[in-house]
Amino acid sequence: MEILYHSTRSKGNPVKASEAILKGLSEDGGLYVPEKIPVLDKTLEELADMTYGQVAYEVMKLFLTDFTEEELKDCIRRAYDEKFDTEEIAPLVEAGDAYYLELFHGATIAFKDMALSILPHLLTTSAKKNQVKNEIVILTATSGDTGKAALSGFADVEGTRIIVFYPKNGVSPIQEKQMVTQKGKNTYVVGIHGNFDDAQTGVKQIFGDKELAAYMDEKGFQFSSANSINIGRLVPQIVYYVYAYVKLLKEEQIVSGEKINVVVPTGNFGNILAAFYAKQMGLPIDRLICASNENKVLYDFFTSGTYDRNREFVLTSSPSMDILISSNLERLIYRIAGNDPAKNKELMAALSQGGSYTITEEMREQLRDFYGNYASELETAQTIHDLYESTGYVIDTHTAVASCVYQKYKEATKDDKVTVIASTASPYKFTRSVMNAIDSKYDAMGDFELVDRLSEISGVDVPRAIEEIRTAPVLHDHVCDKTQMKQTVKDFLGI
Ligand SMILES: *Cc1c(COP(=O)(O)O)cnc(C)c1O
Repeated sequence: MEILYHSTRSKGNPVKASEAILKGLSEDGGLYVPEKIPVLDKTLEELADMTYGQVAYEVMKLFLTDFTEEELKDCIRRAYDEKFDTEEIAPLVEAGDAYYLELFHGATIAFKDMALSILPHLLTTSAKKNQVKNEIVILTATSGDTGKAALSGFADVEGTRIIVFYPKNGVSPIQEKQMVTQKGKNTYVVGIHGNFDDAQTGVKQIFGDKELAAYMDEKGFQFSSANSINIGRLVPQIVYYVYAYVKLLKEEQIVSGEKINVVVPTGNFGNILAAFYAKQMGLPIDRLICASNENKVLYDFFTSGTYDRNREFVLTSSPSMDILISSNLERLIYRIAGNDPAKNKELMAALSQGGSYTITEEMREQLRDFYGNYASELETAQTIHDLYESTGYVIDTHTAVASCVYQKYKEATKDDKVTVIASTASPYKFTRSVMNAIDSKYDAMGDFELVDRLSEISGVDVPRAIEEIRTAPVLHDHVCDKTQMKQTVKDFLGI
């Protein structure tokens, strides 16, 4: 059955999956949603005997219906290869009273790799299918993590170039080192004098520049985005929830059809939305537990029905969740508004004008699958400490937010169903916060000394991504003013 995609803000002009991937965002500012969510056409038992790549095919073929079998399998094969440091791709580890789904075994040791290692291949395949002759130029503004994951996903992918802008003094030393040592002849990393908002605004201006777009087209280039609202990032994220479930089944931790809970440390709402889609596809998931850090705008939304971004932005030890506008939430709002684009559009307009909106009682009733809570900085550190003390297993700060919220959920509900926690980053990515949580004596040590200590206490080898940056040469040292971003792009493309 063919699945088409239309905007959350209007149902006109439905497009094929490959077109939605190429466009990223709909022209009316809405997000692409499938006209209906397909249902799994293999049994859980059949899926339990498959590799990660095979499960990926069974899930993604149902959404990306204009891709041929060969095209999709080729994308999957190129994405989930030895870039991952384990053949399992997404291992499931039992610790304490939950299972941790480790989504950090890819090139940049965070869960963004799960989608960004396949997006470049979905994008170039989509370009071919739609007779796009231009080279695709990916433009990204990053506050640290997405930039590196996109760089390593697109590095040396034929038919693409990638340009990443980051705030020169606004990312961690490790994050900067990860980016400026990026290999690949089609990669370009630029620090800007300014903050993340300046980088983001500059990129948006370049995207919106019609004159530049025409000039680029003349020269054989066109822009695209690797943003997390692209369905080419959302669909690959559904896969690992299915994979985790059938893994539990295969290991006889659950019986077929038994419902499990899923806990997701949430920022932009992409990861947890994928879990929600998995549930709609027929995967036996009961509650979707949405974990926030001190930027608890989603917790407030789930408890009050009001989404309100008018509040102070808190810098936390789980920076990838420091977000006040969760873009992907729009897809859920659209759905609970009865798939009504007009209603959704009204709420989104209220959000962009006054910074808040309130949903109706009727809409709230449809949020019963979700439970929201949050963890303070202190609770997050305590969770890392306690889990390590009781099990020897070390988790990162983002995963700790989820783990803490799971404890709150259990206390509040007494629900003891088998539970999977999405583990979104390696503790090696946030070594200092993690080690300080375990023992304050580590505070005085240098970054790489901490890395070695973490390896000692956890018994987990230092990941390649960290080993590499110890010695890797700096390959990018370009810095520009925030007003020069457009010229910088042109220089890089030689136009
Ligand atoms: C991006 C990110 C998140 C948040 O995921 P969303 O899909 O934006 O909700 C959580 N943890 C880590 C480590 C991340 O990089």
